[in-house]
Amino acid sequence: MYIHDTIAAVSTPPGNGGIGIVRVSGDLAAHVGITLFKPVKNGGLVSHRFSFGTIYDSAHDQVVDEAMAVFMRGPHSYTRENLLELHCHGGWLVVERVLALVLSCGVRLAEAGEFTRRAFLNGRIDLTQAEAVMDIIASESDSALQLAQNIRGGALSQRIDAIRGLLLQALALVEAYIDFPDDDLGHLDSVAILKAVDDARQQIAELLASFEEGRVIRDGIAVLIVGKPNAGKSSLLNRLLNENRAIVTHIPGTTRDIIEQKVNFEGLTVRLLDTAGIRHTEDPVEREGISRTLAQIPLADLILAVFDASADFTSEDQLILDAVAGRRAIAIMNKCDLPRQLSLPDPALFLETVTIAALSGHGIDHLKQRVSARFLAGSGDSRDRVALSRARHRDALEVAARHLATFGDNFGEQNLELLALDLRGALDGVGSVTGQVVNDELLDLIFSSFCIGK
Ligand code: GDP
Repeated sequence: MYIHDTIAAVSTPPGNGGIGIVRVSGDLAAHVGITLFKPVKNGGLVSHRFSFGTIYDSAHDQVVDEAMAVFMRGPHSYTRENLLELHCHGGWLVVERVLALVLSCGVRLAEAGEFTRRAFLNGRIDLTQAEAVMDIIASESDSALQLAQNIRGGALSQRIDAIRGLLLQALALVEAYIDFPDDDLGHLDSVAILKAVDDARQQIAELLASFEEGRVIRDGIAVLIVGKPNAGKSSLLNRLLNENRAIVTHIPGTTRDIIEQKVNFEGLTVRLLDTAGIRHTEDPVEREGISRTLAQIPLADLILAVFDASADFTSEDQLILDAVAGRRAIAIMNKCDLPRQLSLPDPALFLETVTIAALSGHGIDHLKQRVSARFLAGSGDSRDRVALSRARHRDALEVAARHLATFGDNFGEQNLELLALDLRGALDGVGSVTGQVVNDELLDLIFSSFCIGK
């Protein structure tokens, strides 16, 4: 694929910073470099070498900034095209002026993700790797970053290519028999075909089974804190966040809205949601808060049900048990610094019970470890980890799996045309993961969620 126009964008975040980088990709990149950049030393821009100089606006006979410039001759660049980076001072105005000068050289402004889109279209990376670039930028935990790096390095592509190889092998055998039924090929090699398809099916199933783990690593989990008023929910939230985010008072019913904050538990990204205390009340504002809490319960990956362990079990605690029944929940016995009064009628409702004192912080680290251990099983070395982490990949592999299931059903009848159709359907599903099979609409969808300049 060859794209003719040249694009440019600011690749550093908006606002003021130490350095601002304007990136240019395409045929005009060298021309832009020669026109705008005046190196201090003679000799011009050498590919893949930084040079020091000034960015010069000849129309106004004015130095715009002192800068470093690097030119990378394609195909040895991020986009595989000629690529120029101008590293100037990072004030928004100076960066905007440099960009405007670049655009005046016949270059157009890049769309979101367009540099990475070109890297994909020019065959430098496949779609899983392009998406992993975005995941690297968005990573919020070590495990998410490591998984994204593994996929950027091609770990998922290799798995997908292996599955494609098996399906192509099966398809070739089926098509050979369709084309030359009376040939010396003799009989349809059912054993080899079934073996290849079975292996492919198994590998697809393994990847699909990794989706839950991958999703948790990439997106983290939503943890909802529930409990009756004054059980210590806000105190627990503050402990988990190490700051005074939620208002802690002794007046029941103070948290009326849902407070959400992200935090890292031992490598796991957690979206913590503190909620209004659940109880019977006539106050309309508090009732609204409670109904919002109840609506969140089915959406959460985990519920921390906080109980005041220093008080007797009440009908309010029973409301909590009723609300979390059937959900993944941990019972938190809070206020363990005071004499224990509470005994839960049905502790088996919970995955486990953890004892804490939110006020002093006792047991908080243990709680974080328990939650992390539940969701990050830590299977082996994370440097080798490959897991599906995007719903797009899962959906595409599910399409492939469905075609292979039909293939299994059709195999007995030996209708070769139908079998070939099933295999091609499966190949399309698998191929859309890496981008062997894509359309512009899908690419627009994927790359529009990138930032400009990436
Ligand atoms: P919420 O209504 O469930 O959010 O409860 P809060 O976090 O606002 O706490 C209610 C009251 O219980 C406050 O006075 C807290 O200081 C107190 N409290 C919270 N945790 C503990 C604890 O571990 N030990 C003791 N003794 N008091 C606590």
